[in-house]
Amino acid sequence: MFIVVGLVIAFILVAIYARPAMRNCRWREDRAASRPGQTAYRCAFCGARATTATGKPPVACLKPQAPD
Ligand SMILES: [Zn+2]
Repeated sequence: MFIVVGLVIAFILVAIYARPAMRNCRWREDRAASRPGQTAYRCAFCGARATTATGKPPVACLKPQAPD
């Protein structure tokens, strides 16, 4: 029984962390491009740029899926 529960938990964790949209995304604030009320971010991994009004980094990576 515990093995089954462990497998289910492991599957859920893999499903969460393997989402392509979140993979390898490293948002860094770009102060030079930021404006009042609009915080600019650049993804250090893929170079995507985004601007948010919440002051927090974007949730997802904006770069299209790259071939491995
Ligand atoms: Zn990215």
